[in-house]
Amino acid sequence: MIYKIPLFDLNFDEKEEQAVLDVLRSKWISTGPKTAEFEGIFAEMLKVDHAVALSNCTVALHLALKLVGVKENDEVICPSLTFVATCNAIRYLNAIPVFADVKSMIDLTIDPDDLECKITAKTKAIVVMHYGGFACDMDRIMNIAKKHNLKVVEDACHGPLSEYKGKKLGTIGDVGCFSFFSNKNISTGEGGMLVTNNNAYFERAKLLRSHGMTSMSYERSGGHSTEYDVIELGFNYRMDDIRSAIGIVQLNKLEIDLDKRKEIRQMYLNELKGIENIIIPFEDYKEFSSNYIFPIVLKNSDIIKRDNVRKKLAEEGIQTSIHYPAVHRFSIYKDFYTELKITDYIVNNEITLPMYSNLKEHQVKTISNILKDIV
Ligand SMILES: *Cc1c(COP(=O)(O)O)cnc(C)c1O
Repeated sequence: MIYKIPLFDLNFDEKEEQAVLDVLRSKWISTGPKTAEFEGIFAEMLKVDHAVALSNCTVALHLALKLVGVKENDEVICPSLTFVATCNAIRYLNAIPVFADVKSMIDLTIDPDDLECKITAKTKAIVVMHYGGFACDMDRIMNIAKKHNLKVVEDACHGPLSEYKGKKLGTIGDVGCFSFFSNKNISTGEGGMLVTNNNAYFERAKLLRSHGMTSMSYERSGGHSTEYDVIELGFNYRMDDIRSAIGIVQLNKLEIDLDKRKEIRQMYLNELKGIENIIIPFEDYKEFSSNYIFPIVLKNSDIIKRDNVRKKLAEEGIQTSIHYPAVHRFSIYKDFYTELKITDYIVNNEITLPMYSNLKEHQVKTISNILKDIV
């Protein structure tokens, strides 16, 4: 089905095409100078010491948890209202995901009170996810982590340049992870970034992304060394220069893109405010957000009503999505099931409306008016 208004649209033009062409013609297409440049710009924009480009965010989360020392049978507290990769990364290390609920129907980020209740002697780390680019309660979470000697990994996939009390999301915990999958704020097809202010984590992340080898082929080709040792069981989690070149162009566009998204969010707020039966999460949020998505939650509703609303929007040519089906209800997570009252309501009643920088005011009005009629 071709939608009149899609959920998302790429912010691509000739600049991305030219950047790819330049890399192809340079003949260095794997990890090399463009990747180093991409990492440098990303770290500078986030005001963080180190950035390591990786093949996607799922592997960034895997490495992040490994870096902070998560091991088999350790418990890691995480949200269930997230993309499954957040929790799969815990399972890759044979650690145990312990699901915590979100704060409220308005604040869809992990609830520090529920989180703290779930800490045991086996808890090693917390993974937070900044839903939609809206910050988790990081002051409280970092305090809890300090008190119980836990590490904090930020899944900041939704939040490049989003802020929390003057800091960029992803730079507050021990390690931050970003995704450049095609529908994210920064799109390179596949791609990810790990950021940290910890020098040891940075060195080990570079080692682990390339088989645990002490040098990469790009460094060897530059004459830095001709031999290498393998000192740890690593992976091939590298980003290539073709994608990094696209990433650099996307970073150049990011601030303008996010300003437009901010305006679009305001248009939605103006149109949807005061409609009975619609809750707008983060309605009075004040910090700068990347506005990765625009979620709404239906009041006095259930999954059948929600799916019906989505169906009617689709019939009008408007594409929507759900962020997210609850991870704790997936078949492979049945051994880790726990009741999460607010998450359970959200996953059955949330609808994600179209959001991208090129969305026009008249389109926001169309979507809002149709939605009003339906609910
Ligand atoms: C997209 C996403 C991921 C996974 O990122 P990939 O780059 O596709 O591996 C993980 N967590 C969240 C919250 C995401 O939105």
